[in-house]
Amino acid sequence: MLAAFHLNKLQRKVLLVIVLIILVPMLVTGVLSGRWVSARIDESIEHWVRESTQLDEGALSDLHRNARLFVDTLNQVGQRHLSLSRGRSPIPENLQPLASELGISLVQVIGPTGELLYSSRPATLVTSWAPGQETAVVKVNMGTQNLLAAITISRIPAGSGQYYRLVLGTLFDKEFLNRMSRLSGLKTRLFYPEKGDFATAFAEEGRPLKLRLPAAAFAQLQNRQSYYSATAEDGRYWGLYSPVVTASGQVEAVWFSGHERTRRLEFLTDESALSLAIIFFGLVLALGVGFMLSRIVVRPVEYLHEAVMRLAAQDFRAEIPIHSRDELGELAQAFNAMAISLREARNEQQREFQRDKLSALGELSLAMAHEIRNPIGIINTASRLFTGSEDSQRRIEMCRVIQEESQRLNHLLNDFQQLARHRRPEFKVIDPVEPLEKALQVMLAGREEIVVTKVYNHGDLQVSADSELLRQAWLNLLRNALEAMGSDAGTLEVGTQVQDKQIEIYLQDSGPGIPIEKMTRLFEPFFTTKDQGSGLGLTIANTLIEASGAQLEFVPGDWAGARFALRIPIVNKENK
Ligand code: ADP
Repeated sequence: MLAAFHLNKLQRKVLLVIVLIILVPMLVTGVLSGRWVSARIDESIEHWVRESTQLDEGALSDLHRNARLFVDTLNQVGQRHLSLSRGRSPIPENLQPLASELGISLVQVIGPTGELLYSSRPATLVTSWAPGQETAVVKVNMGTQNLLAAITISRIPAGSGQYYRLVLGTLFDKEFLNRMSRLSGLKTRLFYPEKGDFATAFAEEGRPLKLRLPAAAFAQLQNRQSYYSATAEDGRYWGLYSPVVTASGQVEAVWFSGHERTRRLEFLTDESALSLAIIFFGLVLALGVGFMLSRIVVRPVEYLHEAVMRLAAQDFRAEIPIHSRDELGELAQAFNAMAISLREARNEQQREFQRDKLSALGELSLAMAHEIRNPIGIINTASRLFTGSEDSQRRIEMCRVIQEESQRLNHLLNDFQQLARHRRPEFKVIDPVEPLEKALQVMLAGREEIVVTKVYNHGDLQVSADSELLRQAWLNLLRNALEAMGSDAGTLEVGTQVQDKQIEIYLQDSGPGIPIEKMTRLFEPFFTTKDQGSGLGLTIANTLIEASGAQLEFVPGDWAGARFALRIPIVNKENK
């Protein structure tokens, strides 16, 4: 499960780049959109609270309309029943339920001279209305309590141009507020003035709540304008405070409609929380997209990387799965085709190598048979002549021939052995001319007629080599040089030259040199121009020199004789 989320280096880089590319705009977008969304939601809530409060105001005019409707009903019924006399309710029994249904909680009848003929409750209207006014909000004294009421005044003719006044009112009492709350879905409170302050008329929490608003808000309310606050009532509501103006133009109460601040809505209006949420969402999105992309795009590159590594490790069975027809798919296809042709080429190479090996073995066997057959043939003939001859002189001669040829065979076998199995080199830091000097000593013993010139230019530079292997190689090279110069006097020049980080040690003789057509065959096994030669001298020298970490080469030039040079890396003095 966890392995599915494992990302390699390239995938991690792609993911990082995508996250960075998305993150910065996401931060800006998060902050801006957080600000925008919270402002819009704040605005919408304010709009909603204002609209719902208008609904409350609408409800007031509904009350007046209901009251008028009720008066019409009364008038129609009153042809027979309406009686406006002192102490008697003008509302017949059967219409009482309709009255309370329409929200009419106060009924008063006022006589033509202004005297109160009937009141459904012990209540006195404190505020008076202007003549001719039909609806008003008035202050009502209920003994211990002052309340407001929305009233509708209807004139009922009393004869000789005089009128009774029927007052139908809805008291702004607790029941009324609860009804308003139910209608608008908002928390509704009414604040009445109390000892120079405003407090809720109906104590909710044991005692009336004081209206706490900034001075500017009070000024606005006094000015008969409503005041909106997103943190109304100690931050518990988005609320609108509206002034309730009585018939005398006084602001007698403050009407509050509020929407409770719920967690969810609060979150939507909290700018920083919203910004953080949007940024977090963006980050998760960026991570998701980055993760997907890094896997979809980078996976083929990963396959390619794995396959190339396998190819580099000589595993030609490497193959890339092809999942798409795009450039990456084409690349995979080309790679697979290349791997197949490399595999075929390698197989062909192996078969060719096998063939070469077999033919080299055949050639070697032929050459060896040829080299061995000659001395054996001579030994055969000599031994027959030896047994068939009585001449002691001849027999001595044949014995010498047999000895010589068997010695030659012995040398040949030694050469073969040396070629096939020399000892493991033991490296030591030495003077590069030390093996040559030792070989010269051996080869020039008793050859005073040979003049040796030494031109050493390597100073005290040293090399790391197996001195004994190099000495044997120099013996072969010196033997060839002396054989080329013959028995006459001659000159050998030995010298050193420093080239790059190598030392060249050369040996030059004053023999006839090597014709150009033979130069390329010098290091071929069994190539010889001598009657008694094995053609293995240079091959053995080359093998020994290479085993010692050096290189042997024939140096053509316009000098007399042949020149062979050995190149070997210099050892740093600090590495010694
Ligand atoms: P061999 O000495 O048994 O012939 P080598 O491999 O040592 O075998 O030499 C191969 C051939 O290279 C020689 O037969 C000879 O023709 C040529 N050769 C080698 N060294 C010299 C030299 N210093 N001068 C001339 N010819 C040389």
